[in-house]
Amino acid sequence: MIPSATDQATAGVEPPLEVRGASKVERPRLGCDTDTEVCVVGAGLAGLTVAYELARNGTSVVVLEGRRVGWNASGHNLGAVMPGYAVPVEELIARVGFEDTRELWALSQRGADYVRANAAAACPETVVAGGALEVSTVDAGDRLIGRLQMLGEDFGTDVEGWQVERVRNTLRTSRYFHALHFPNAFQLDAGRYLDGLARLAEQAGVRIFEDTPVVSIDPGGIRKRIMTPSARLRASHVVLAGNLHIGAPALRLAGTLLPVWRYAALTPPLGDRLDGVIGFQGAVSDDDGIDHFRIVGGNRLMWSSPETTWQANPEKFGKVIRHRIRTVFPQLADVGIENVWSAAFGRTVHGMPQIGQLRPGLWVASGFGRQGLNTTAAAGELIAKAILERDDRWKLFSPFELVWTGGAAGRVVGHAANILSRRTAALAGTFARLRERTAAREQEREMARARRLAAIKARSVEVVRRSSATQRPSQQDSF
Ligand SMILES: Cc1cc2nc3c(=O)[nH]c(=O)nc-3n(C[C@H](O)[C@H](O)[C@H](O)COP(=O)(O)OP(=O)(O)OC[C@H]3O[C@@H](n4cnc5c(N)ncnc54)[C@H](O)[C@@H]3O)c2cc1C
Repeated sequence: MIPSATDQATAGVEPPLEVRGASKVERPRLGCDTDTEVCVVGAGLAGLTVAYELARNGTSVVVLEGRRVGWNASGHNLGAVMPGYAVPVEELIARVGFEDTRELWALSQRGADYVRANAAAACPETVVAGGALEVSTVDAGDRLIGRLQMLGEDFGTDVEGWQVERVRNTLRTSRYFHALHFPNAFQLDAGRYLDGLARLAEQAGVRIFEDTPVVSIDPGGIRKRIMTPSARLRASHVVLAGNLHIGAPALRLAGTLLPVWRYAALTPPLGDRLDGVIGFQGAVSDDDGIDHFRIVGGNRLMWSSPETTWQANPEKFGKVIRHRIRTVFPQLADVGIENVWSAAFGRTVHGMPQIGQLRPGLWVASGFGRQGLNTTAAAGELIAKAILERDDRWKLFSPFELVWTGGAAGRVVGHAANILSRRTAALAGTFARLRERTAAREQEREMARARRLAAIKARSVEVVRRSSATQRPSQQDSF
């Protein structure tokens, strides 16, 4: 797996402020043939979590990383950790039924708790407890109440519903309506977390080799053979945790992931400009998956939004992100952008991660999409438990098979579908705001009508009162 020129260009783009603080430990290349119990391919969140879980339970593990630890999505995400998957619960229930959805949800919550525990051990200074808000861009209060009841009462999640007024008092924009608030969600610095996870894994005995791409795997037999350009490895289990860069050793798997590059940016310090505009310290995401942002370092805004299915120069997307910020918060129309970066993740056709055993001893942990912090942790624990204790809960993910994304044509279709769903979401938002304005105008008209009627009534009462007052003396006169 040779990095392309554009890959290297992206890797060289200045990472966000939070990531810059991560220590850049260099690790050796695998230099001689080695034996181990488990070989993990890929040192992102998924690979390092499974490696750490296995090693701290006494298993010998080698991680082979084609480039550097955390160079891709795992080291460059927005660091928002909350329960759930990219697929809404209603869709999951339709697919696998209520009971399995409840178990899947519990695993996703467990994944978030697992990250919290690791972060507390590895990098407590980077953890920010601020909750997460999932805001709706349409007026869908009824739908939200249903979801709220299911998550809170049936799935035992710590979640509350926010009315439109509360959302708008907290986030000064007319774009958002109701919201789900996850008070236990938290944020961390992605780069530092990954660095800390690698450190924990190494302390537990994991050997990590960088610049060591796996070029082929012979998965037959009890001992599998893993080839790299510089040396061979033999292992009883192989975990494919290479995300969409897995390449030659698992071409079929690679074909089941639609590559998505997501672009993110950081503003310079904004002083007190965020006061009264964004009064929420946690992460905010809209339920269309378009905008995702949070305040970092007290007064900078970290914002991610645009996506492409091909790799492009992230610098080009600074303007697009500024436009998104301006669209949602016109008050921040003139904020600048200090850093822009991108990273790639694999999106599956069904939207759920691929977690499980492909054949005896060959495991897969990939397809985590844009909600990867909690789900990679869930995958790491599940696969480690399956190897160590023959725990078969990973089978909960079996309904989400490896489905081919359609190759190059699939990318084009995926991009078109992405644009379409963003436009549809934008249109739905526009209609929702239009409906809201029309309803407000109607209400204003109603109130004006009521005021006019009240005034007429008051005037008639006054006329009657006056006329009876003028008639009263003559009546008295008649006595
Ligand atoms: C901009 C952005 C923001 C995001 N924000 C959030 C967020 O706030 N919250 C959240 O939960 N998720 C977020 N995500 C998603 C999350 O970052 C990913 O889902 C997650 O990092 C995927 O982890 P991974 O280990 O599967 O992949 P990766 O991080 O890509 O790691 C895979 C590793 O495997 C290596 N590899 C691949 N093939 C081979 C091979 N053949 N030999 C050796 N090594 C190989 C690669 O070099 C790579 O280092 C975000 C993603 C992006 C892009």
